[in-house]
Amino acid sequence: MSVCERRDICGFCNNKLRPMPVIAANLKKHFCYRDKENCARYMVHQKLRQGYAPKDEGTLHAIARQMNNLYPNDTAMAGMIIRMLTR
Ligand code: SF4
Repeated sequence: MSVCERRDICGFCNNKLRPMPVIAANLKKHFCYRDKENCARYMVHQKLRQGYAPKDEGTLHAIARQMNNLYPNDTAMAGMIIRMLTR
């Protein structure tokens, strides 16, 4: 069980995703307060912390758009973003 240190700055955790508040609250309870290692957003940020970065402006914008809508349980999308960072 590990509380996420990104809670104060994370777009998801700061209620920027409002269309499904009950689901969002449950995801927060699970990922942000118990299981950050399996959070899709956290996985992407870990790669960025390792020094990976978008190779060009187009990739940067594509990743930024996807991160805006990335839910913590969407590990498939996280994998796609990470492939964009590491190719
Ligand atoms: S959504 Fe993920 S990255 Fe954001 S605060 Fe919660 S666990 Fe951390």
